[in-house]
Amino acid sequence: MSKQRILSGMRPTGRLHLGHLVGALENWVRLQDQYECFYAIVDWHALTTDYDRTQGIRESILDNAMDWLATGLDPSRSTIFIQSRVVEHAELHVLLSMITPLGWLERVPTYKEQMTEITGRDLQTYGFLGYPLLQSADILIYKADAVPVGEDQVPHIELTREIARRFNHFYGDVFPEPQALLTKTPKLPGTDGRKMSKSYNNAIALTEKPDVMKQTVRMMVTDPARARRQDPGNPDICPVGDYHKVFSDEKRIAQVDQGCRSAGIGCIECKMWLFDSLQKRLGPIYERRQQIEARKSDVVDILNEGSKKAKAVASETMVEVREAMKI
Ligand code: SF4
Repeated sequence: MSKQRILSGMRPTGRLHLGHLVGALENWVRLQDQYECFYAIVDWHALTTDYDRTQGIRESILDNAMDWLATGLDPSRSTIFIQSRVVEHAELHVLLSMITPLGWLERVPTYKEQMTEITGRDLQTYGFLGYPLLQSADILIYKADAVPVGEDQVPHIELTREIARRFNHFYGDVFPEPQALLTKTPKLPGTDGRKMSKSYNNAIALTEKPDVMKQTVRMMVTDPARARRQDPGNPDICPVGDYHKVFSDEKRIAQVDQGCRSAGIGCIECKMWLFDSLQKRLGPIYERRQQIEARKSDVVDILNEGSKKAKAVASETMVEVREAMKI
C-alpha cells in the first residue's frame, strides 16, 4: 500500500530557533518514516506580512534549508522545495479565489489575531487576507492526505476542506479533503518569559554557537521569588524550568524541581545544567550544520531537485483542475 502524503511549510523570515525545532522540525523528521512528505519553504507566505522588507528572504531560504537538513530532513525520503519555484501554486490560488466567499477568509481566527498582534505594518492587503487560501492551494495541489499542524492552525485545515468540497461540488471530484494531523507542541516561552518572538529578540537560534548560547542561557529570566540564593522558587513559573521540561531527562527535571523548591541549588547551577542538556540535543545538529555549510552548492541542488519533483506533481493536478473547470 502506498504511503499517505503530507505537506507542511515554513516561512523564510530569519534564522530558525528552538521553537521551530520542538514545534515542527523534530516532528517532520519523525513523519518521514510513515508518510510521503512534501516540505516547502513558503517564500510567498513570507511576503504576506513582510512585503516591504524582502531583502532577507533569499538568504533565509538557504539558511533555513541548511537547518532543516542539519535537523535530519532527508532529501532522499522527503521532497524539500521552494514554493515560488512551483508557480502552479499561484495559478491554483487564483482559481480558488474565484469560488471562495470573503466571509470564509474574514472569519479565520488567526487573521483577526495577527491583525492585532503584528504592529507597525499595514496588513489591510489582499495578500494577508488571502494567506489561508494560498495555504489551501499549497495543500490541495499535492492532494495531501494530511497536514501536520498545531491547535491554532486547525481552522486553516477546516477552510481547506471546505474549499475542496466547494470546488468538487462545482466542477467534479478533484480534491481529497485533507485531515489535520494534530501535533502537541510543548510549552517553550522566550528567554525572558514572554511569548517567543523575533520582535522581542528572546529566542535561541537553533544553530547558535555554543559560547553565545551559554551566555544567553545565563541571562535567562528566572522565578522572581528567588531574589536571594536561599529563597525557594517554583520551576513551573520559570522559563528555565520550562526549558528543562523540554530538553532535560527525567532525572534532571526531578533534580531541578526538588533543588529549586528547597533552595538546594542556585539559579546559575540550574542554568548550566540546562546548557548541558541543550548541548546534548543540539550539539549534533550544530556539527551537521557546519558540515552542510561547507557544501552550500549541494543544498542549492537539493532545493532545485525538490522543486522539480514538486512541480511535476503540481502540474499533473493543474491539468485535472483546468479540465474540470473547462478552461
Ligand atoms: S532554580 Fe532553576 S527553575 Fe528555579 S528559579 Fe532558578 S533557574 Fe528557575
